[in-house]
Order: sequence, then structure tokens, then C-alpha cells
Amino acid sequence: MSPSIESPMPVIHHEVDLCVVGGGMAGVCAALAAARHGARVAIIQDRPVFGGNASSECRMHICGADRHNQIPNMRETGILEELRLENLRRNSGRSFSIWDTILHEKVAFHPSITPLLNCSCLSAEVEGARIRSVTGWQLTTGMFHVVRAKVFADCSGDAVLAPLTGAEWRMGREARTEYGESIAPEVADERTMGMTCLFQARDMGSPQPFEPPVWAEVFDTCDELPYGRSGHGWWRMGYWWVELGGEAHSIYDTEHVRDELLAIVYGVWDHIKNRCPAGGAENWALEWVQFLPGKRESRRYIGDHVLCQGDVEAGGPFPDSVAYGGWSMDDHHPAGFRAVEIGAPATVFHSAPSPYGIPYRSLYSRNIENLLFAGRCASCSHAAMSSTRVMGTASSMGQAIGTAAAMAIERGWVPRQVGEAMGELQQRLLADDAYIPLVKRVLPLLTLSATLRASQGDPEPIRDGVTRPVGEDSHGWAYGMGDWVEMVFGAPRQIREVQLVLDSDLSANIAMSYHRGDEQLTAPPATLPRSFRIEALQDGAWRTLRSEIDNHQRLVRYALADTVEGLRYYLEGFWGTPGRSLLYEFSAR
Ligand SMILES: Cc1cc2nc3c(=O)[nH]c(=O)nc-3n(C[C@H](O)[C@H](O)[C@H](O)COP(=O)(O)OP(=O)(O)OC[C@H]3O[C@@H](n4cnc5c(N)ncnc54)[C@H](O)[C@@H]3O)c2cc1C
Repeated sequence: MSPSIESPMPVIHHEVDLCVVGGGMAGVCAALAAARHGARVAIIQDRPVFGGNASSECRMHICGADRHNQIPNMRETGILEELRLENLRRNSGRSFSIWDTILHEKVAFHPSITPLLNCSCLSAEVEGARIRSVTGWQLTTGMFHVVRAKVFADCSGDAVLAPLTGAEWRMGREARTEYGESIAPEVADERTMGMTCLFQARDMGSPQPFEPPVWAEVFDTCDELPYGRSGHGWWRMGYWWVELGGEAHSIYDTEHVRDELLAIVYGVWDHIKNRCPAGGAENWALEWVQFLPGKRESRRYIGDHVLCQGDVEAGGPFPDSVAYGGWSMDDHHPAGFRAVEIGAPATVFHSAPSPYGIPYRSLYSRNIENLLFAGRCASCSHAAMSSTRVMGTASSMGQAIGTAAAMAIERGWVPRQVGEAMGELQQRLLADDAYIPLVKRVLPLLTLSATLRASQGDPEPIRDGVTRPVGEDSHGWAYGMGDWVEMVFGAPRQIREVQLVLDSDLSANIAMSYHRGDEQLTAPPATLPRSFRIEALQDGAWRTLRSEIDNHQRLVRYALADTVEGLRYYLEGFWGTPGRSLLYEFSAR
């Protein structure tokens, strides 16, 4: 289908710099990063909400390199942290609809983003090795949308632009010898990880009978379930092991796999309510069942580099690392729920270091010049993808490709050429509070050359270019109520921007998970400064430039147009009573 499409239905044409296809966490972060760096963006998302598997339609909590807070200080910062802190502030009840709303307002209300929701991308126009436009069908309006762009980013999970454009891709598991992967099968196959339908249940406070549909499977004994009794003692939020489709086609067979999954979901709930000898669920009722199966794996693109098991195990390190992962290689058995029948575990966790770097070369197509990608369709082997697929990692990749796309557009480059300006891409990401293992932020000269003074302690770590604790080094200045730190420039200087990186407690659990009980935060972290002042030294006297009374973000940036001899950050209050809080950056340019 081309932009000159002839249809009795209306056809709307859009001309933008970047078109993102797929609005899961990877796509959301890509669109926001590109728009914030000046690109005009369209995002085509085939659902009514953004967030993909993290949205209210699927309700998976975002995991990443901190592995449920087991790896201290490894949480993904940058755009994902901003979204999650916004969520903590506004969503103490952990409602997925409020989370949807936060994603919606960030993306759809951005002045440089054209959101095309309920719009399914179904064709592409390609000239030589370049995509010229893509077309989507919008269910709610009955219209076609043709989006012409300079650069395209596929964040659809299923890599829909691969078959539509001829970009190289593969699906299934590589043979062990292909990349020398010890956890790969001996012979390559087309099997993948499966998809899952979750459920949510609520304690109603009084007995709740349950009658299963006649088509539900029947599980009379706990032994028929993958993890037996231990796997269903916690029934607030369904089970990841209700998984099928890895032995079928994880795209084309989705509709009938969903029906099989629903039969299992209702069978498992019937078992819990009516058949499990341990009981305990008398007062519980189902309140939600996932009708849109959550997918784990399907097509994966081939980029200039295919990230494999060895890369993950070596921790990268790549000269062109732009994102990072840290989840273990969580390789689900293709038989999923049925693996119990052959005595196999539903998943095997192969160890992986956290963090490991993800190279830029795994995020653009080897043969289609203007195509980037992020999320579970990135250029990884099956083994590496069993780790990179989690949504914290997908978000980190998304921010990287959005920033790279904006750079490519500024310069009239194709994405591969951005590799020649890797230092700049990495520095832009770090300035926006993304984390890249082993790469330090280079602070503005004005900050580095200033005289630093503080009310107590040594404030030097606030300009060491690392904005989180790594190993034994806190990389922050420990401070408390009433403390201040100042930069003095020695002469009047024109200031355009001041930036703070504050302590949002990167070891706290902010998962918004129904699986994980109440051990998680439901309000901004105690360590996070809520009120503070930025003061300026002018004509020998300090005066207040900005006064913040209700901050809830880690990255705080102010655009200024002032001539000052110095700047001071003065803390007035935290969200809680922290044992310790660290200031990671106070910079000006
Ligand atoms: C049951 C289950 C449990 C999981 N548990 C976790 C977990 O706890 N934590 C975690 O972080 N990860 C978890 N994962 C993995 C993770 O959810 C996925 O790997 C992840 O969603 C990848 O993010 P993404 O942005 O690449 O894709 P997605 O979240 O799949 O987002 C892609 C989006 O693109 C849209 N799209 C697809 N095709 C088109 C098209 N043609 N046109 C327009 N839009 C399109 C889709 O509707 C979707 O909204 C789990 C997965 C499953 C299935």
C-alpha cells in the first residue's frame, strides 16, 4: 500500500521526522526521547493505551537490572524513572488505569508527538533500502493514516516492520554452535517462549462461590500445575507459568492460543477455589482476566551486531554501549504450562551479570538504512533476549534509540552514522539521566571549573560524572535538612541551565506489582528532596532564583537566562525522614 492509496475510507497523511511503531515501554521512551531532542514524532499504537505489557490491558510490572531490588542501585533511570516517580506520586493505590493515564498524558500531550492510538500498522512503502512511509488502520475512526518520516523505530515487539520492509529478522532458537552459546539447544529450531494470560483476584471479605465455565480445564490435584501448591498460594495476580504458544507460532497462532490460555486460567482458579485441599481462597473472587495475551518472544531483527549469551556474560563491555540490562537469562521452556507433563521446569534462570552493556549496533537494522528498533525485537540471540526482554531494559533501549533518531535527523544521517558520533550520543543520554555502565558524564566546563563549597562534608562527588552508587563509591554528597552546596565562578557568568540529580533511592521497590505484596513504596521515596531553593550570587549577595516546594523527581532541570557569580542549592525538606540522602549532581551551563 502506498501513500496514494485508493480507498473509500478517509486517508490522513502525516509528515514527521520519526515514526515509532508500537507504544509499549520501548516505544513510549523512544518517542519521548526523540521529541524532547527536537524531533517531530508520530507514534502508532494498536491499543487504546500505551505501555504494552505494562499497561492495564496486561498488568505486568516492570523489571530490570535491579532484579526486584536484589541488585542495589541498578534501577533504570532517565525517562523510565521519571514515569515511575510520577506514578508513585499520583498512584498510591497501584491502579493500572492511573499508570495508563500518566503514560497517555506524557506521550499524547507532548506538543511534538502525534499519537495514533487504536491504529494498527499494516503496510510500508520502501524505496531501495529506505522506508518512506508506513500505513495504519485506525479502528475507532475507520480511517487510514499514512505516516511519512525520515527515520522509523520499530518497538512493536513483534517486529511488524520486518516482514513489511524486508529488514532481516529471525525467529526461534539458534543452534549452540552459531554464537557459541552453552544454553542454546544443539539444533536450531523455531520454538520461542510462549504467551500468558494473567488474572487478578480480590479478597471480598465474605465467602465467594465460583462456578467455572464448562470449557475450563480441570486440575484435580496440585501436582497437575507447574509449581504445585507452592505456585498458587499467592493468588492476587495470576501466574506467569500459565504460558503457551512457544511450540506454535507466537504471532499467527495468538487467537487460538488465547482460548487455550483462558481455559487454563479458569481451570487454575477453579482448582484454587474448589479443588485445592489447602483451601484459603474462600473469600477471594476473580475481578479481572487478561484477554489480550502478553507476549514474550517472536521476531527479532538482525542488526550490525547480534547480542548473544557471551556478550551478556562478559557484561558487554562495548565501546558503543547505549543501554543496559541485568535480568538473568530467564529462558522459558517452549512448552510453557505443558512442560510439567514432561518433567521440565517452566523456566531456567541462567545467571547474567548486572549491569551488562547493550551496544548501539544491536538497535538498528543491518539492511534497512533508516530503521531503528528497541524492546523484545532488538537484535539479540534467543538466549540473550531471554534477559533483554524485560521492560526496564526495553525502556533503556527505547530512550537510546529515540535520542539517536533525533541526532540522525538533526544531521541528515541514517542511524548507522550516529555510531560515528558515539561520544555525543552517550553524553546526551547521560545528561538526560540514563545510565550507561562504565561511561562517565562529562560535566559542563563551567561546573568543573567552579569553586565548590558546602555546609559540611566534601561535595566533590556531585561533579564526578556518575550519578548513582557503584561498588563501594557512593558518587554522591551525603547531606541533610538545612544543608547547602554552592558553586562560585569567580566572575559573572551567563547561565542557561541548572541541573540537579537527586536521590530517589535506587534500591527501593517501586515496582507497582500485584505479585509482590505490600513491601513496595506507594509514595515518593523518603530520600527524595521535596522542597529546596536555587540561589544565585549577584552583586555580592545571594537571592532566590527558584523555590521548589513540591518536587517528586530525581532529575530536575531549570532553564535560566541569568548572569550570576555563583549558584547555591539549599535543601529545605525531604519526602520522609531518610537515614541518608545523596546529591549526585549539581551542575550549570
Ligand atoms: C506473562 C508475562 C510476564 C512477564 N513478566 C515481566 C515482568 O514481570 N517484568 C518485565 O519487565 N517484563 C516481563 N515480561 C516481558 C515483557 O513484558 C516483554 O518482553 C515486553 O513487553 C517487551 O516490551 P516491548 O515494549 O518490546 O513490547 P510490548 O510491551 O509488547 O509493546 C509493544 C506494543 O506494540 C503494539 N503493536 C504491536 N504490533 C503493532 C502494530 N502492527 N501496529 C501498532 N502497534 C503494534 C502492541 O500492541 C504493544 O502495545 C513478561 C511477559 C509476559 C508475557
